Amino acid sequence: MIHNTKAHKFGMLIDLDKCTGCGSCMVSCMAENNVPFKEDESRKKDSITWMRVYKLTNGKSFPDTEVVYMPRPCQHCSGIGDHGHSPCVSVCPATATDYGYDTGIVSQIYTRCFGCRYCMGACPYHARYFNWWDPKWPEGMENYLSPNVSPRMRGVVEKCSFCYHRYQLAKDKAYAEEREIEEMEYQTACTTACPAGAITFGDLNNPAHKVTQIVKPDPHPVPGNPKVVGKSRNPKVFRLLERLGTNTKVYYMSEREWVRKAGDNYLDGEWDKVKNHHGAETSHG
Ligand code: SF4
Ligand code: SF4
Repeated sequence: MIHNTKAHKFGMLIDLDKCTGCGSCMVSCMAENNVPFKEDESRKKDSITWMRVYKLTNGKSFPDTEVVYMPRPCQHCSGIGDHGHSPCVSVCPATATDYGYDTGIVSQIYTRCFGCRYCMGACPYHARYFNWWDPKWPEGMENYLSPNVSPRMRGVVEKCSFCYHRYQLAKDKAYAEEREIEEMEYQTACTTACPAGAITFGDLNNPAHKVTQIVKPDPHPVPGNPKVVGKSRNPKVFRLLERLGTNTKVYYMSEREWVRKAGDNYLDGEWDKVKNHHGAETSHG
């Protein structure tokens, strides 16, 4: 029997110049992961959206207005120095959220969570959601829930899992066929649903995969800010709030400078230092 012992580091690249804001990723994510919804979803603060598409503009008036749509799943932070100390994992008193060293995926274990919501406070990306109610499905819809994902109960926190159940299914199939899992066998629901092909998902440890070839993550810490590891060597690629050292595995890409600049809250004069120093020589700190 072949045992899959290779350590993966799953990550995502979202091309913001391709995203049209259609919301297919949000819908497919909800359907795939049995994410509950309310009859009235107008109170957005209570909505559960593992994948949420935000609208950003360049703040200019017509005819110079530009709009971009930014899908935001859990960023699957690897934590300071890439050691697996994701902000949410570090604060959870119940080990209800954990870092998978073999996948790089940050998991959520619902039956351990007791709803203190420390993780929600710790997450810089608002990627976690609390279940204020037990899920209620329109009549008959229970028959169409995904059998691979357990629905969550009132009182626990949930978030994007990079469709971990799809990884398990692909791994089980490969195991039964006595082979290693193939790169494209495991893809998240949002990746496969995006009609614009804006999302690329794969193993950042695999130099042959498209995601790694575009992102070109630098394995060395950034000079001047050793908390940051895995910074992209592609000047068009950035991560959200990168200097915090959360070392997210969701990367974004845009040709437009104002979009890349929107990835952090730069003070006056900071951006010029950062934008000219991508990759190994960066002084991002
Ligand atoms: S809400 Fe749940 S997952 Fe979050 S910190 Fe508390 S116990 Fe852990
Ligand atoms: S984005 Fe938030 S929920 Fe996801 S790993 Fe990072 S801190 Fe945790």
